[in-house]
Amino acid sequence: MSTEQTGAPGAISYTHASDPGHAFGDQLLDVVVVGGGQAGLAMAWHLVGRGLRFVVLDAGSELGQVWRSRWDSLTLFTPAQYDALPGMPFPGRADTYPGKDRVADYLQAYAATFDLPVILNSRVTELTQAGGTFEVHTSDEIFYARQVVIATGPFQVPFIPPSARGLDGSVTQVHTSAYRKPQSLPDGPVLVVGGGNSGLQIAQELVATRRVDLSIGTSAPMLPQRLLGKDLFWWLTRFGLLCRPADSRLGRRMQARGELVIGTNRRKLRRAGVTFRPRLVEAEGHIVRFADGSSLKVGVVIWATGYRSDYSWIHVPGVANDGHVVHRRGVTDVPGLYFLGLSWQHTRGSALLGFVNDDAAYLTDRIMTHHQSAPPAKVGAVLMEQLVEGPMSNSAG
Ligand SMILES: Cc1cc2nc3c(=O)[nH]c(=O)nc-3n(C[C@H](O)[C@H](O)[C@H](O)COP(=O)(O)OP(=O)(O)OC[C@H]3O[C@@H](n4cnc5c(N)ncnc54)[C@H](O)[C@@H]3O)c2cc1C
Repeated sequence: MSTEQTGAPGAISYTHASDPGHAFGDQLLDVVVVGGGQAGLAMAWHLVGRGLRFVVLDAGSELGQVWRSRWDSLTLFTPAQYDALPGMPFPGRADTYPGKDRVADYLQAYAATFDLPVILNSRVTELTQAGGTFEVHTSDEIFYARQVVIATGPFQVPFIPPSARGLDGSVTQVHTSAYRKPQSLPDGPVLVVGGGNSGLQIAQELVATRRVDLSIGTSAPMLPQRLLGKDLFWWLTRFGLLCRPADSRLGRRMQARGELVIGTNRRKLRRAGVTFRPRLVEAEGHIVRFADGSSLKVGVVIWATGYRSDYSWIHVPGVANDGHVVHRRGVTDVPGLYFLGLSWQHTRGSALLGFVNDDAAYLTDRIMTHHQSAPPAKVGAVLMEQLVEGPMSNSAG
């Protein structure tokens, strides 16, 4: 596919839900993509190239909202040369680390450049299937499609452990998804709970101006951002570690090791003044207790404890069980229904900006195969008209 792709005959132009001109409710689309983050937009790029009639529905009021709402100082751990979606380089010199707003800007420019048919302010509240056609419900419309790609992101509902409920109401509690900057927290010491990238980066930022305790339940593997003058992703790519299938021996071992913490480590944080604590096991009033029996009085707690999935809106049997998607490389057992952008959907790269394209390309082939095997919508409509509506009106006459 050419990198000069600029929209396609089948595509419907980029619009907002409030625009009057996008009434598709009475038409059968080839595909609906749910979610217009990097995964949904990469998918859209491929679908445009294949001339399919489709829309991307996104809950946000602007593209890139997920990135824009992350904390102010967040910079990518993937350098610019590993942040591009198909067909458009990520702006910025190689080996520089873009800020999170640059990703939001890039996603907006990407959709505009390729005239991708995104409809904003369109949260999908229900997905059902009847007679081989998917019904995609938003608050004010129903879209009908032969195929659906769910690209709603790997990080959906902020997770806070149940022990948090024991804390006194006067303790300030913030999940990382709501954390913005040190100045927006009340003065005083902070307890950060969680030892992934978010917890360590936020602890590092806060310790410059206040006391920080960091509770880590499970130690993640930690690697420096740069090794022997090269970025970590250069090495990971070179050794093929980002494209090892999830079900390979190495893939399984990498998943079992957990999230990779990049660019910071315990020694660096300890030197900066962070006090390490083991797993938080209990919280009551203003006191939290840790697995080693120690305790701490807290006034501000940041929960860097991750996210859970929410697929409760999918009412198609056999697709999502307890928040876990049943799929093989994003392809579900329900013909025509796919996922894109899941963590470890196929490889470690599946949920990363610069690598989601591999899965998008794979799904495109599957979508095209299904599309070509499905009877064209127009034939169905003609048959309905002739065999159902026509004879009835004839006999009435
Ligand atoms: C703190 C943090 C730092 C990260 N840093 C990097 C990095 O440096 N490099 C990298 O490559 N990756 C990074 N990632 C991982 C990954 O790239 C991002 O999480 C990315 O946002 C995932 O893109 P996505 O398109 O799959 O999902 P999202 O960006 O979450 O987009 C999902 C979209 O779906 C929409 N949506 C959700 N539900 C619905 C619904 N029901 N109906 C309609 N629309 C819906 C949302 O509005 C959103 O626009 C980071 C992740 C986090 C959390």
